[in-house]
Amino acid sequence: YSFSQPCNEPVLGYLPGSPERAALEAELERQSSLQPEIPLIIGGRPVRTGRLGKVTMPCDHGHLLATVHRAGATEVRQAIDAALAAREDWLNLSYHERGAIFLKAAELISKRYRALLNAATMLGQGKNAFQAEIDAACEVIDYLRFNVHFASRIYADQPLMGSDSINRMEYRPLEGFVFAVTPFNFTAIALNLNLAPVLMGNVTIWKPASTAVLSSYYLMKVLQEAGLPDGVINFLPASGAELTETVLDDPNLAGIHFTGSNGVFNALWRGVANRLDRYRSYPRLVGETGGKDFVFAHASADIAALSTGILRGAFEYQGQKCSAASRAYIPRSLWPEVRQRLVEGIQSMKMGDVRDLDCFVNAVIDRKSFESIQGYVEKAKASPDAKILAGGEGDASTGYFFRPTLIEALDPRFVTMEEEIFGPVMTVYVYEDERFEETLHLCDRTSPYALTGAVFAQDRYAFVQACRTLRYAAGNFYLNDKPTGAMVGLQPFGGARGSGTNDKAGSGLNLLRWVSPRTVKETLL
Ligand code: GLU
Repeated sequence: YSFSQPCNEPVLGYLPGSPERAALEAELERQSSLQPEIPLIIGGRPVRTGRLGKVTMPCDHGHLLATVHRAGATEVRQAIDAALAAREDWLNLSYHERGAIFLKAAELISKRYRALLNAATMLGQGKNAFQAEIDAACEVIDYLRFNVHFASRIYADQPLMGSDSINRMEYRPLEGFVFAVTPFNFTAIALNLNLAPVLMGNVTIWKPASTAVLSSYYLMKVLQEAGLPDGVINFLPASGAELTETVLDDPNLAGIHFTGSNGVFNALWRGVANRLDRYRSYPRLVGETGGKDFVFAHASADIAALSTGILRGAFEYQGQKCSAASRAYIPRSLWPEVRQRLVEGIQSMKMGDVRDLDCFVNAVIDRKSFESIQGYVEKAKASPDAKILAGGEGDASTGYFFRPTLIEALDPRFVTMEEEIFGPVMTVYVYEDERFEETLHLCDRTSPYALTGAVFAQDRYAFVQACRTLRYAAGNFYLNDKPTGAMVGLQPFGGARGSGTNDKAGSGLNLLRWVSPRTVKETLL
């Protein structure tokens, strides 16, 4: 692989008898009983604080996977010092030297550590083998290779020469450090929130999600093995408040790269706003937050594609994707057949432990999430405006299992049509066919979010109309496909409105947020 345009990493099939399946099963077994004690990594070195937290399996919450040392204010300050100390050497490396480290990491994961990262993501975050493969292997590798390629194009983009001047643009990293706050639901996002700034010459303080700390730790180790210099990324598992306050108080905070809830992102933004006078530069705030992603079917839709799109978009990884389909608008003429396919599809989904590779549905991430999902479903059960058509039950006695649930909303503004649930719950509103246009407007107004959306139609005019009316309703817009599964290099990812700053992960646009260019004019004497 080179700095020229890469290809997406092929998705392995894990069929019975395949070598990748044997390797994965062996690794699942090994990690099931390993129980590592995960340290912080500050300035390249492990740091043990003795303030230990537990890492358990969502599918079996009595099963201890690891313990993790947690940072306090002292370690955060040490990490900021280590990051700033590493900064000068790192930014002075040529871009090719930096890029080579990440290309090497991609090779290591592709050939040597695929099973390691996949198994950690399956056990720790409750993903099945396919969901882990497209995340912890393929998307991780794609972010590494494609960002290196996108960055090479940015550095090549230079101003014109003048008649009496030599001009150039120096793509300096931001002056200070970047705070990367990463989510549980994608190992690849945990990587990218560090990778994008670091590739452009920045240094990061990384706060991994406590529920994804196992895969995050292994990722950090792979980056170190690939040659990441000490202090460039500092890995700091911690419980929110103390770490965040210390980071926000530091005058060298130059940017925040975030994926997670609106509540946390808003709190970070306010925290920065309240301290503006103390920073050396205005910090760059880049965040991806919630979604209430729609599937909108026109009467011309292909019913098989539509039904599969809803089932996969809503229920893969238990709906725990910001991009997950969670509300659908279906014309009355299609509804009887679509409904039957959805109910049958849900009933055929096998649910269970990630180590049973036949399971399509696994547990949701933790008890808080389980209870929140249950709360929404209870509201639907109690309301005359909603009907449960399938699922609706959960059992958290061993793992946090909630059955994929289909709700029909009689009121298109019913709470499960509007609010993000982040679980396996799909709500359908059935509209009269002749109200297509009016229902598009309704879809646009129903939720504060605008991350992804899918339109199913075979009628090109209907699609064009949907594109126009829903212009700002989604940052990733799909025709005849589920609204999840954006691929790096093919569909840059992000949305606006309540879904974030729309700085398109997996594109040069995102990388540009992590540079503060200097224009240099040299006059010819
Ligand atoms: N990029 C992922 C997708 O397209 C979703 C990322 C997220 O959940 O934040 O499905």
